[in-house]
Amino acid sequence: MGQVPCSGCCTFFTPRNKAQNFCSEPGCQRIRKTLWQKQKLATDSEYKEGQRLAQKKWLQNNPGYWKNYRRRNPEKTDRNRSLQKIRNMKHRQDQTVYKLSKTIGIAKMDARKPIGHTLSGQYWLVPEVAKMDAVKIFITAIPGRYP
Ligand SMILES: [Zn+2]
Repeated sequence: MGQVPCSGCCTFFTPRNKAQNFCSEPGCQRIRKTLWQKQKLATDSEYKEGQRLAQKKWLQNNPGYWKNYRRRNPEKTDRNRSLQKIRNMKHRQDQTVYKLSKTIGIAKMDARKPIGHTLSGQYWLVPEVAKMDAVKIFITAIPGRYP
């Protein structure tokens, strides 16, 4: 069998069979397993429930894990908080659009609000493409008007 590019790192490798899309590098195997689990969680409710119970049990045996995690990883905590804010905002927007559409019969509308001068601050630039890290950026509003 000829060489094929790895779906994880794009390096060419010789697969053991037609179904093998990832090379044996640990990082690529981790991606493969993550994708497998994501798929499994989405399609197998028994597996999902088992995972939920196992996580719950593990957390009971490791109290304070997340508290310690957040203390040890302030950057990641900051990032997660920002991402959660985005998810909450998106959810609220979806809810608003849904309620509006129920009330006034508009199926689709632009729910974006004007941002104005509240734009200044720290943001996480989150790529929609998998395997790319989020980048922290700083946006500062410059006073004055532009044509
Ligand atoms: Zn690879």
